Amino acid sequence: MKKFDPSEAIQDLKQFGEYGDVNPSITDSATYTFLEAKTMVDTFQGEEEGCFLYSRHWNPSNKYLADALAAMDCTESAWVTASGMAAITNAIMQICSHGDHIITSITTYGGTFAFLKNYLPKFNIEVSFVNIDDLESVQAAIKHNTRLIYTETMTNPMLQVSNIPVLAKMADKAGIKLMVDNTFTPMIVSPARLGAHIVVYSLTKFVNGKNDCVAGAICADAGFINSLSDVNTGTSMLLGPVLDPMRSSSILKNMHTLHIRMQQHSKNALYLAEAFQKEGVNVTYPGLPMHKNHQLMKEMMNQDYGFGGMIAIDMTTAERANRFMELMQAEGVGYLAVSLGYFKTLFSNSGKSTSSEVPQDIQEAMGMSEGLVRFSVGLDQNIEKTFQRILKCAKSCQN
Ligand code: PLP
Repeated sequence: MKKFDPSEAIQDLKQFGEYGDVNPSITDSATYTFLEAKTMVDTFQGEEEGCFLYSRHWNPSNKYLADALAAMDCTESAWVTASGMAAITNAIMQICSHGDHIITSITTYGGTFAFLKNYLPKFNIEVSFVNIDDLESVQAAIKHNTRLIYTETMTNPMLQVSNIPVLAKMADKAGIKLMVDNTFTPMIVSPARLGAHIVVYSLTKFVNGKNDCVAGAICADAGFINSLSDVNTGTSMLLGPVLDPMRSSSILKNMHTLHIRMQQHSKNALYLAEAFQKEGVNVTYPGLPMHKNHQLMKEMMNQDYGFGGMIAIDMTTAERANRFMELMQAEGVGYLAVSLGYFKTLFSNSGKSTSSEVPQDIQEAMGMSEGLVRFSVGLDQNIEKTFQRILKCAKSCQN
């Protein structure tokens, strides 16, 4: 496949404001005037493009951000939402109706898992949970009413890597959609180029990278994105999780440094993973040759961005994990906090936090140790020093 550089795609965009402002102006309006009444009628009927109607429908600031995301992900179009969960739930609800069936990776972000397991049954939408590594079980789960295969490029928190090209072929053959959450690996992997039909993001994480807001995005073909904002049937138009234009404007500016941040997150995470491995610590990182999906990840990723900023280490018990995290916070390694993609290192015990929605028996079935500590590695300049601090904390928790 031809080399693709997502950062160049963003850099090449010519986006500027109406006064030549290098950062596009922020649209501080909920509604828009029409010079002719007929244009308003045509816009409501979807026959007039390029006119803004009402900010829940579309607004210029969100359009700039959506265009940058579509460029980054090489999709025709994109849509931005007020949270990652809004992106995921809106995209799923746009595809699935009463009586439909979804196949999902059993390891997903806990909120997504809860939506699929606890919420969708209210609408008589059936969900099969599979090990996404076991491609035969994915194939076997496809039924006449299946509409969607759902997965994460790199699953949360097990850091399993989904085989997007094979899953996309399976979906194409069955005439269904493959939706991929690429939150852990923006720029590193371009799921749409590998065949995914819809790519969703929590922009809250790496894409924005500042932990100052929650936001989300859906990247897909123009037909799907337009269907979300249809005034009669569009899930986003009707449920209304619109992103505030002030926020989309600041996220857009942060996107222009994303490539440099991803490189540094990946460099630091690889350093820590290799150093942990040398010390005999049980570490999971797809950048290590011993990771079961290392080769697959190498085949799927764009050049120059590394293997991402997420690593997990196993402290075997929740008590030890808690002690370890408190010590690391006291030592200045980073913060004991959920979320990821921040410039400081964040760590949490997944089973008791971001995956606590997943019942204990399922956590065990997916191989998630109760002592698993997930790290979102920060942008530290001196990662050797950070490693020494972490090691000191790990050693004092050994007894
Ligand atoms: N997808 C992944 C992989 C996540 O980790 C999260 C949140 O932690 C979400 C989606 C949900 O995003 P948000 O918190 O922006 O709604």
